[in-house]
Amino acid sequence: MELRAVKGMNDILPDEAVRWQRLEAAFREHVRLHGYDEVRTPILESTALFQRQIGETTDVVEKEMYSFERHGDALTVRPEGTAGAARAYVEHKVHAKEPVSRWYYLGPMFRGERPAKGRYRQFYQAGCEVYGDPGPLADAEMIEMVASLLARLGIPEVEVRVNSLGASGTRERYRNALLGHFTPMRDKLSEDSQRRLEKNPLRILDSKDPRDREAAATAPSILELLDETDSAHFEGVKKHLDALGVRYVVDPTLVRGLDYYTRTLFELRTTTGDLGSQNTLVGGGRYDNMIEGLGGPKVPAIGFAMGIERLLVMMGGDEKRESPFCYVAPLSEELASRALVLGRDLRRLGVRVEVDGRGGKLKAMLRRADALGAKLCVILGEGEIERGVVAVKDLAKHEQEEIALADAAKVLAERAAKLSEGGDARGAR
Ligand code: AMP
Repeated sequence: MELRAVKGMNDILPDEAVRWQRLEAAFREHVRLHGYDEVRTPILESTALFQRQIGETTDVVEKEMYSFERHGDALTVRPEGTAGAARAYVEHKVHAKEPVSRWYYLGPMFRGERPAKGRYRQFYQAGCEVYGDPGPLADAEMIEMVASLLARLGIPEVEVRVNSLGASGTRERYRNALLGHFTPMRDKLSEDSQRRLEKNPLRILDSKDPRDREAAATAPSILELLDETDSAHFEGVKKHLDALGVRYVVDPTLVRGLDYYTRTLFELRTTTGDLGSQNTLVGGGRYDNMIEGLGGPKVPAIGFAMGIERLLVMMGGDEKRESPFCYVAPLSEELASRALVLGRDLRRLGVRVEVDGRGGKLKAMLRRADALGAKLCVILGEGEIERGVVAVKDLAKHEQEEIALADAAKVLAERAAKLSEGGDARGAR
């Protein structure tokens, strides 16, 4: 049997990983400027964490989690990053050490969804969480941060959508309003929505099923049910977004697939059509009850997560893998050790080097050096070594010279440094 990668899980080979690195570096740099520091939490958590925080009647918990039992523990491979980070925040009593914490994470998430373009079973998310700031300033600042990151990445046609779910009281009132709306048309809803109607009618607004979409089109708006403080909070978010010049659409049907959200909710979508219905690039919102729900104090929180694969589809760019500066070609087995030593000495001086360990003909080694985009090929031949020199071939200029073996590392490193001043040492294949 041919062994292949698990369905919905992708290999990212080095040619492609270059783009991932650019995206990740831009993300880290962008959030660093906003005061965020990295958190790394385990990929496995207790199943109960996700069941309680994400919600029993969400698609993620009902159908998509990779859960199993080991050593008597019920475990789940994380489907998202917020619950684990919040667990860590409570477990380490971070609230007692600082009033506000800004965390970011980056890593793989796992959901057993039906694979499609932009929808995988292992996918990567980069996300941020702020604990201890009630907003609305923090909400607007976060939305602007995400919007400007996507702009920085050159992602076109991004639409920001915002909504407010109010606090828990609003949810209850809205639940009742939705029940009143959907119950008379129950038979027209999808099977999933019929089943969830009593338990969680908000989910129907999030459904992609055309039957549910039609029923949801005429549903009441949650924004009409917000109480005064929730309304003022939402107005504050919009006012700050206006001040920052972030354009947005208020979308009262935006509820998102996870149950933990309160008040501000937001999504950034692309409208280019490249991703079909997987056009949501970023999703986030406030979850003011989670920390307390996990046994911590009452600490408000807000966060977002963005799908790396989806951003990469939109990002464009044709980054290439980095070339070695020097390719070292030993022409006989006896010279292999010398080649290794020269390679090591060059790397100690910060030069990217590959030593040809295959043996064989010079011609093949030069061809390889060329294909890699190396600037120089250092040739170690018997005759040269006897005279205490190496031959250095400039692969672009097709010029060859000899330099003393004893000085070779230093001379070549200086050359690499000079080129990198001109921005030219980091060649690409
Ligand atoms: P969520 O955690 O569901 O709020 O999703 C946040 C973001 O993660 C989405 O906007 C997507 O960009 C990305 N995402 C979620 N699920 C998947 C998936 N199965 N495959 C790829 N990206 C995903």
